[in-house]
Amino acid sequence: MAGSRYVNRIIKGVATTDGAGVELTRVIGSHELDMLDPFLMLDVFRSENPDDYIAGFPPHPHRGFETVTYLLHGCMRHQDNAGHEGVIETGGIQWMTAGRGIVHSEMPEQQDGLLAGFQLWINLPASHKMTTPLYQEFNSSLIPTETRENGSTIRVITGCTQQGTCGPVHQPLTDPLYLDVSVPAGQSFSESLTRDHNAFVFLFEGSAGLLNDQGEEVSVNTDELAILSNGDEISVRAGQAAARFLLVAARPLNEPVARGGPFVMNTPEEIRQAFDDYNSGRF
Ligand code: FE
Repeated sequence: MAGSRYVNRIIKGVATTDGAGVELTRVIGSHELDMLDPFLMLDVFRSENPDDYIAGFPPHPHRGFETVTYLLHGCMRHQDNAGHEGVIETGGIQWMTAGRGIVHSEMPEQQDGLLAGFQLWINLPASHKMTTPLYQEFNSSLIPTETRENGSTIRVITGCTQQGTCGPVHQPLTDPLYLDVSVPAGQSFSESLTRDHNAFVFLFEGSAGLLNDQGEEVSVNTDELAILSNGDEISVRAGQAAARFLLVAARPLNEPVARGGPFVMNTPEEIRQAFDDYNSGRF
């Protein structure tokens, strides 16, 4: 078992409101879990009630990190102050490197029906916080799906699986792995991970068993996040129903983090500078 990862801690999300009144569940970036270096925030949104999401996220800035939006259902239109615009559709990914700064809006395109997905914030190293903004956007058909012998399927957004399926997004600064994994009831899924990268499993359908540090199986339920220990491999066994989860990992930055709303820098002075630049129209 040497090198196997186990569950260090299980986190439940916290219901919150953001943007212009969007109801969501914050799983990373709450009082339960401040961050998991380099992951600063994980928001989960899932509602069939337009009142929960229709007001969207009107124009707001970002600086110093990346926002990763992955939609399971529905459509989200985004537009920024540099003229970049598009729609993220069901199964699509937008990996936005905010760098030195963008001002954008993120608005549900649909008027009704289910809207579901995730937004993950990933920190940038000090050396690249002021980099030129960059988008990596891929619709569902451009995200490869690997199928394993037991019927498990893995959508690979970034990084490569142990079987060599690689996702379209590239980010060498934190070398992330972002997988959307579906495992049939009672079946198991194992995957190699870089030993010292921080990693989590966020379960969004069914339940799953993962091992703890005693080698006992613990149950992780829908909407729970399991923080993993370091190690070379993770195994997840689906419960009595099929399980679907995100498996996400990346290299920790181990740098000081200063936060100010939509800005994440290394020092309070850099946060003051970000507000000053934004308020002076320098984004
Ligand atoms: Fe945003």
